[in-house]
Order: sequence, then structure tokens, then C-alpha cells
Amino acid sequence: SFRSVIGLMDIKPIGWEQIGGLEDVKLKLKQSIEWPLKFPQEFVRMGLTPPKGLLLYGPPGCAKTTLVRALATSCHCSFVSVSGADLFSPFVGESEKVLSQVFRQARANTPAIVFLDEIDSILGSRSVSNSGCDVQERVLSVLLNELDGVGLKTIERRGSKSDQQEFQEVFNRYVMIVAATNRPDVLDEALLRPGRLDKVIYIPPPDQKSRLSILQVCTQNMPLGPDVSLENLAAETCFFSGADLKNLCKEAALLALQEDGLEANAVEQQHFLKSLKTVRPSLSQKDLTSY
Ligand code: ATP
Repeated sequence: SFRSVIGLMDIKPIGWEQIGGLEDVKLKLKQSIEWPLKFPQEFVRMGLTPPKGLLLYGPPGCAKTTLVRALATSCHCSFVSVSGADLFSPFVGESEKVLSQVFRQARANTPAIVFLDEIDSILGSRSVSNSGCDVQERVLSVLLNELDGVGLKTIERRGSKSDQQEFQEVFNRYVMIVAATNRPDVLDEALLRPGRLDKVIYIPPPDQKSRLSILQVCTQNMPLGPDVSLENLAAETCFFSGADLKNLCKEAALLALQEDGLEANAVEQQHFLKSLKTVRPSLSQKDLTSY
């Protein structure tokens, strides 16, 4: 059934430290979602309301999905997920009904994060093609309606009360929407109005320092030979996304087994260097500059 790809997910818990680099992005996410959920009273006292919706954008394979999983883990939120591409698959049924169902599940499982991956395929298509306009329009209007319906309106009215429990209850009904895209250029601007996806966060491709952190995360359970220099590999992997780096480490470990036999007990620098010849970077100059 479609619920295996769309809807309420049992996600594997993941900690912030499992994500290499992106320290300022992690801080922003914690500030805007984790803090209000953990310290609702303080938030309200300072006149702050958490954003209703976030938009994460940046090149593919650079941890957008992984960040949202870490966020859901850290604030003990349910994770309800739908990918724009899946939504229009002929196998899922009527797209707009499926989307409504997703939000219904979120409201029944609060606090919840609704993750809308590849949101450009839900919205952008208006400006990109004319095909399927009808469904697209209906889906967009469901989405905008839902966006206008979620959030924490009641908090403002109760601002003067200081009962921690009461705040907690309101925040416990929180539904937060996080959308992701590789193509911010095609987003419908209706979505970016204040009160909808009101916080836009760029998830950059990893620089050399971040690549080192990612390599450290990806090799933390691998026995590394004494000659392995992750610093050197970080320097040699310009245009590698986080996903590419993860792949590189996996390939190197497989190569160690393949070359040194099943008794192999360390991945050596040469395994990484050989894998560098087959695992190619998926980013280009455009990805480093055009966002
Ligand atoms: P897409 O736009 O293609 O959906 P994405 O930006 O959502 O990609 P993820 O799905 O989060 O990227 O990442 C792909 C894989 O790469 C994941 O398995 C993740 O573990 C790994 N990865 C990417 N970036 C990092 C990182 N900074 N630290 C650790 N692992 C990473």
C-alpha cells in the first residue's frame, strides 16, 4: 500500500552528531523547532512563535532528508513523509486525497513533522509545464489550505498565562511542515509567504572541512589502516556530496574485502584511492555557485 512510501514512518533514530559539517544549519534547526518544543514557555515569553514551515534547499545528496530525520528524533516528533514525485505516481491514488490523508495522520500523531520531499514536483510544475495542470492545481490548493490551518495560533491569545502545562499541551499539538527541494527556482511564491513556509534554509554542498567531518562519520565503524589520511581524502574530493562520500567509504571497504580476502581487517589508503577512480562526484561547479 502507499503507506510504505507515504505517510507515517518509523524512522531510524539519528543523532545530530551523525551528520558531518553543517553546524550552523543544525543550530538554526534546533533554534526554530527543537527549542520551542522543549522550552515553550520561554519562547512565548519572548514573543516568539516557531515557524510553521521550513524550506530546505540545496544540491542533491547533501543531507536534507537526514537533517529532518535528526530533527524528528531530537524533538520526539512523529515523522510523516511524502515525496512530490511519489504523490503523482499512478499507484498512490488521487494525489490530493493522499496529501490530505498525510496531514490527517500528522494531526492524529502530534507533535509531528510533515516532510514534503521534492516539493518542486508538487508546485513548480505550474511554471515548468502545462501538463496535468488540474491535479497540480488541486494538490497545491490542498497544500496551501493545510499550511494555513497548521501552526500555533492559540499561543498568542494565551500569551499572558504562565502555566507551563498549558503551553506544553498547545505545543504538543504542533504540526510543523518541512519541505525540501533541489530546485528553489521553480517554487510557487505563494508558498513562501509569511506564515506558510516562512523560514528558508540553504543546505550547502560540503566544503573541505565538512567533507572531513562527513568522512569521519562514515568511517566511524570501519577499521582504518594506519596510513589512511581522511584529511587527504577530504582535499581530493571536491564536488563530492555527502551521499558520494558515504558511497566512497563503502566502496573502499568492499574493495578491502575483495583484494585482501575475507580475513581483511583494515581499510587502507590505497582502497580509498582506488575507489576514487570509480566513485565519481555528483556535484558540479554549478551546484557550488548557483544556489
Ligand atoms: P536528495 O536531494 O537527493 O533527496 P538529500 O539532500 O535529502 O538528497 P540525504 O538523503 O539526506 O540527502 O543524504 C543521502 C545520503 O548521504 C544519506 O544516506 C546520508 O546518510 C548521507 N549524507 C549526506 N550528507 C551527509 C552528511 N553531511 N553527513 C553524513 N552523512 C551524509
